Amino acid sequence: MSGMSAAGERMGRSILHVDINNFYASVEIRDDPSLAPYPVAVCGDAEARHGIILAKNYKAKAFGVKTAEAIWEAKEKCPELVLVPCHFEKYERVTEESRKLLLTYSDRVEPFGMDEAWLDISPYAPTAEAAGEIADEIRGKYKKELGLTASVGVSFNKTFAKLGSDMKKPDATTVITPGNFRNKVWRLPVEDLLFVGRMTQEKLNLRGIRTIGDLAHTDERLVKAWLGKWGTALRMTANGLDSGPVVPMGSEAAVKSIGNSFTSPCDLYTEREALALLQAISESVARRLRRSGLMATVVVLGVRDNALFTFERQLKLPRPSSIALELRNAAHRLLMENYDFLRPIRSLGVRATGLVPETAPQQLDFFTDHEQREKRLTAERTIDEIREKYGKKCLLTGRVFAQQSSAEALEEGPAPRQLK
Ligand SMILES: [Mg+2]
Repeated sequence: MSGMSAAGERMGRSILHVDINNFYASVEIRDDPSLAPYPVAVCGDAEARHGIILAKNYKAKAFGVKTAEAIWEAKEKCPELVLVPCHFEKYERVTEESRKLLLTYSDRVEPFGMDEAWLDISPYAPTAEAAGEIADEIRGKYKKELGLTASVGVSFNKTFAKLGSDMKKPDATTVITPGNFRNKVWRLPVEDLLFVGRMTQEKLNLRGIRTIGDLAHTDERLVKAWLGKWGTALRMTANGLDSGPVVPMGSEAAVKSIGNSFTSPCDLYTEREALALLQAISESVARRLRRSGLMATVVVLGVRDNALFTFERQLKLPRPSSIALELRNAAHRLLMENYDFLRPIRSLGVRATGLVPETAPQQLDFFTDHEQREKRLTAERTIDEIREKYGKKCLLTGRVFAQQSSAEALEEGPAPRQLK
């Protein structure tokens, strides 16, 4: 069970990261136990997801079936693979139940995607042993009440808690303490750290930094020279100094706005070029909104031209949204109504404000195709899930291809909230 050597050690903070194992596939098998003996994969319907694998069980994984690959590819590796259609509404219900369960342990629960969440249980579990016991109890409740297994990481900060939930699967607790993190964490590859994407990994690997320990031991000034402030924050994280709080879901104080801006390496002369960049930025903003369980009611566009003249314009959305397409359309409209392209654009920003919880009641009207919006949101959420697990390059929408490098830069641009 929980790490014995860590027993009794004080944690500073006690943070859990709970991750349901093979979420979609586990829910499908739970509801149809006759699937259990087989390799199983959940796939999206061909129209919306282009026939890709969204999730799989361990038996399918053993055949090399990968999330986000084409169904035909998966079938080639594993001809007996059982394909199950995706039931997104059901997964959303399970997510809701899972969050409710976690809220009985702490009011500080921060969801991360549909099947993961952090909990701050410091007041109730000051030692590693006590925190590990709560983690074990939560795993038991997931099995009994939800019929699902979860892996739980227990640590004194969010990053290491997340690492811990990845270390043992399925149905396991991993405790990483101020006393043992050097042994447990430093040997792991640097890209295992939350928010180290492929670009950062490549930059660090190029300089001989391969493990989290390598990063922890590198001179601070060097890391800062390579990666800027972001590097300083990452290096601190590698040293166990991530002080980011667990931000309760839906908390108004948590975020006032979510935005990204991007300075293009070359001037943008046309509407088409600007639109491609707005698409990439909107996707990243929408993703962050969804991750925080929020929707925007106002979109703010920021523009800077090559003479460094800047302006901001804002637009109230017809209804709250965390759909990239809708954010982009608003930003696009603001741009075309307020800019003449007499000078090329150097930098664009999209900010979502007037944030409301995504659970807030919405007025239905006759002029909106609600089903269409719901489908769009589901598709974008599915992409979030896959991106979070399998890296940023595996899925890009057609438009983002035009600005692939910008999209990647955005992924790693602003320091994430937990590191501030
Ligand atoms: Mg999971």
